[in-house]
Amino acid sequence: MPQGSSGRPAVFMDRDGCLIEEMGYLNHPSRVHLLPRTPAAIAHLNQAGVPAVMATNQAGIARDYFSEETLHAINAEVERQLGDHGAHLDALYVCVHHPTAGHPPYRAACDCRKPKPGLLIRAAADMNLDLTRSVMIGDKPSDIAAGQAAGAAGVLVLTGYGRGEWEYRRHEWAIKPDHVAADLFDAVEWALTRVSG
Ligand SMILES: [Mg+2]
Ligand SMILES: [Zn+2]
Repeated sequence: MPQGSSGRPAVFMDRDGCLIEEMGYLNHPSRVHLLPRTPAAIAHLNQAGVPAVMATNQAGIARDYFSEETLHAINAEVERQLGDHGAHLDALYVCVHHPTAGHPPYRAACDCRKPKPGLLIRAAADMNLDLTRSVMIGDKPSDIAAGQAAGAAGVLVLTGYGRGEWEYRRHEWAIKPDHVAADLFDAVEWALTRVSG
């Protein structure tokens, strides 16, 4: 596990149910709706100089529900809406694989489908990040697990699938979040005290 201590900490964020409304398989830019406090959360990271990195599973590619071109248009719409509020993501990492659905190269036992930590590890190598001082935020236990497997802290948000997972299913989880937050803004507040501490 690469855990370089020379790098910067970052805050990683899941997309669906964390940055934007959970819509199932999101297959068109017109269905992109930022959650209410997402722009303020990202702007807070931008102002603090902490890299804001999106890390998302998009198995809809492997399942052939939408194309990579559509995926890029959707992610561009997320960035456009953030830009309207003066906020920006520093990097976006996407797993387009599924272990059993579709056809190669998308059907693959990859190392980047959360709960595996590959997206975070790739970002750390690209951006010289210190994962042990970083935080992964998401609405599913697989987000928390990916963060913790990478050596980072994992924060569960109660938006998206988060509230149902936390209230009804957490007894089944193999992992425990380092923190539980109402939404991305509260999660970023917690993360900023951690990464600057
Ligand atoms: Mg999610
Ligand atoms: Zn993958």
